[in-house]
Amino acid sequence: MNSRGSRGDVVVVGGGIVGCTIAYYLATKHRARVVVLERSVPGAEASSAAAGILGAQVESGHHGRAPSDGGALFRLLLASRALHRELDARLREEVGFGTGFHPCGVMRVTRTEAGRRELATAHEWQVEHGGRVELVDAIEARRLEPELSLPDEGGAVVLPDEAQVDPPRLLRALQQACARASVTFRSGTLVQGIELLGGEARGVRTAEGVVAGDAVVVAAGSWSSLVGGLPDGMRRVHPVRGQIVQVETRPPIATRVVFGDGGYVVPRPDGRVLLGSTMEEVGHVKEVTVGGVHDVLGASMALFPKLAQAPISATWSGFRPATRGDRPMLGKTSIPSLFIATGHHRNGVLMAPETARLLADLVALGRCDRDLSAFSPEG
Ligand SMILES: Cc1cc2nc3c(=O)[nH]c(=O)nc-3n(C[C@H](O)[C@H](O)[C@H](O)COP(=O)(O)OP(=O)(O)OC[C@H]3O[C@@H](n4cnc5c(N)ncnc54)[C@H](O)[C@@H]3O)c2cc1C
Repeated sequence: MNSRGSRGDVVVVGGGIVGCTIAYYLATKHRARVVVLERSVPGAEASSAAAGILGAQVESGHHGRAPSDGGALFRLLLASRALHRELDARLREEVGFGTGFHPCGVMRVTRTEAGRRELATAHEWQVEHGGRVELVDAIEARRLEPELSLPDEGGAVVLPDEAQVDPPRLLRALQQACARASVTFRSGTLVQGIELLGGEARGVRTAEGVVAGDAVVVAAGSWSSLVGGLPDGMRRVHPVRGQIVQVETRPPIATRVVFGDGGYVVPRPDGRVLLGSTMEEVGHVKEVTVGGVHDVLGASMALFPKLAQAPISATWSGFRPATRGDRPMLGKTSIPSLFIATGHHRNGVLMAPETARLLADLVALGRCDRDLSAFSPEG
């Protein structure tokens, strides 16, 4: 027992979207007593910085071939996209507001003839594996999104089942629902390391003492590898910075999320438009830079020239938790009762519900209904 007296059946390290969603599933589905330890405040980092695109297909072009993991990641992405609709409905019922879930679809555009052929093959494999994809020419793309600038030799794929959420809203709804399910949040609590007893994880060490628990889930995003006492063979997580520029348009500049070659445009129904994003390996340096903003604005104005007139209402940056091989790290570790859920890189918001469903089952029941070998934390 620690000096502040709290103990959970499960201790979750990190109050980002992954940690909060796991806490929610553990508490509501398995009636577990959960303590979430967050060194800042819940949602302080990548999870609030995210654009909220649920782009299971746009993020997985396989160039006509089966992916090297046999499609394990693609299936996880599709399952999680489907769960977002359900999570939105559940949270609406439980706390009175939802996640900003909006099944707007995604359009991926290309400006060249060669790009059109590439787009077609990139999504071939998905069509055979349950992804809906519509190939359109430039005329049709401009009809669907009248403000889009696209030369006649260009084209697009439309992915009608993709969607978006509003991450800060999703986090607020989750925290409300967690509180109703008696999850304890301890903000301002830096976890220093895993507490072992007889070789098993039995809590964590913090500056204020040990927080005890029967199981520990590390969901510390791009800082996960810095938590002391993790198994030696664990894959490492590193930060990939992304910068976003938010502008305002009335009426919304587009109806779908639109991806171009160098960036994306995410129109929220209320007129905010998120323009993103850079991919930078600069460590944990949280800055918005002139070069970053320049690149983001350049890519988005090439898609929608009218954005030049839009007022900028905010800018920010955050750190995606990336891993070697770009595979999330999900599941048990070689230390009994120690679990990991991180490495979601560009798609942590998308993957949070399915990650949480699986991790909650693994922690509470010792098993889950998906083969997680492709996402082994130590493989
Ligand atoms: C610019 C940008 C755009 C993005 N867009 C999208 C998108 O459109 N769709 C999508 O699906 N994903 C997107 N992502 C990715 C997504 O944001 C991440 O994959 C996801 O938020 C990771 O969630 P997390 O909970 O693992 O990490 P985080 O949100 O970073 O949470 C980890 C938490 O752990 C805490 N922590 C760390 N170490 C400790 C410690 N030792 N003790 C206690 N607490 C600790 C941190 O303070 C933090 O709050 C984007 C990311 C960025 C940066």
